Amino acid sequence: MEQIKFYNSLSRQKEVFVPLEAGKVKMYACGITPSAEAHIGHLYQALIYDIMRSFLVKEGYKVTYARNYTDVDDKIIAKSNELHLPADVYAKEMIKKIDAEMHAYGIGEPDIWLYATKTIGDMIKFIQKLIDSKKAYVTKGGDVYFSVDSFKDYGKLSGRRTDEALDGVRIDNDEEKLSPLDFALWKSAKEGEPFWDSPWGKGRPGWHIECSVMNYVTFGDQIDIHGGGRDLLFPHHENEIAQSESLTGKPFAKYWIHNGLIRVNGQKMSKSLGNSLLMGELREKYDVEVVKMALLQNSYHTDINITDKLFTDTEKHLYEFYSVLKLAKAKFGDFAGKDQKVEEDFDSAMRDDLNTSKALSYLYNIFKTARERVEKGDKSVVATLNSVVKTYSLLGIFKEDAETFVANVEKKTAISIPNNVKELAEKRWQAKKERNFALADQLRKEIEELGYLVLDAKDGYKITK
Ligand SMILES: [Zn+2]
Repeated sequence: MEQIKFYNSLSRQKEVFVPLEAGKVKMYACGITPSAEAHIGHLYQALIYDIMRSFLVKEGYKVTYARNYTDVDDKIIAKSNELHLPADVYAKEMIKKIDAEMHAYGIGEPDIWLYATKTIGDMIKFIQKLIDSKKAYVTKGGDVYFSVDSFKDYGKLSGRRTDEALDGVRIDNDEEKLSPLDFALWKSAKEGEPFWDSPWGKGRPGWHIECSVMNYVTFGDQIDIHGGGRDLLFPHHENEIAQSESLTGKPFAKYWIHNGLIRVNGQKMSKSLGNSLLMGELREKYDVEVVKMALLQNSYHTDINITDKLFTDTEKHLYEFYSVLKLAKAKFGDFAGKDQKVEEDFDSAMRDDLNTSKALSYLYNIFKTARERVEKGDKSVVATLNSVVKTYSLLGIFKEDAETFVANVEKKTAISIPNNVKELAEKRWQAKKERNFALADQLRKEIEELGYLVLDAKDGYKITK
């Protein structure tokens, strides 16, 4: 197997990936709390770990990938109370909607789906063991807390010393907590909340314990990869480590992997700002492949700033790529053959910590000359394009029919091209026909300054955004 490197948040450096058991990968990514419809941040996280799984499989690993739904939580309870629905009914409905969105975006299913509410019995056992070994304690009110002081390695993931960590936690006023950093493993039931019976009374699990236990019952003491958004690093993942390692005495996850966060026009995406980009709404505006490719322009570590321009630019590029595929198919028929370099470049970029940004830069390079190669009748382009489609489909693009994709984008953009742009494009076409290339070039520039692009075809031209 070729060497793969991942950036491990635990060691704060890129490391060669060596799974616990040769050839096998146990992988878990923190999933969604289904309190509202899925937004682009959910898509980004699901996309990154889906790609990671697919690439590891392609590289020959046998991967078991588990994702979860945190299907009991304060926000779910609040929302379901508003709607006068039982919390579980509401959560189930939201999960159905989110699953349907992920499916529409072509996100692969994990091998194992986990649900917090289906693991409550195991959570109770896990918590009891922590209490028995004095790592956790029960309060008079029936809450159970993890004792952070009992875990010497606390802070190893986030790099926060416990005094610093205090700044990052919500200080609640439970006077029965021994230390402000201690976090709830079990919360006693409040009026109107769903609850489960436990040795400590009626209640429900804390959020952090859910992931520790779902991992434990699925994979045992240790896993290879634990993924999630960077916002989960502290305290969620730090607390997962504390609970799991206190119970097993072994390092929990070998590689902690965190994807960057989404910003919208420079701002944090949040419900209170009203700038959440819902997956369903985005899909009405752009092809799902455009959205996915836009998200993969950067390395997955970096935060992404989403602007309309990011999507329209990506659409322009993907439209051009698909147009070339369509043209090549019309000229040469079905694709066949292999372009070794295309595949090697892609693999080397991806082996370097899933560098999709680099992989896409190779793709842009290929398409710098692909159209000309097709137009000139250079048959070697068929193998190149065949490898492009085959290889890059791992990123969730080039899965559509070229003709349909091109037609859809054209239908969408045709109406929105202003008359002055159309006139300039027509003048430029005339200038070209008269072989007045200087004027044609100048007109092209004018069109581009207005934010449009003219693409020449054999028998005419097209304007795109
Ligand atoms: Zn988690």
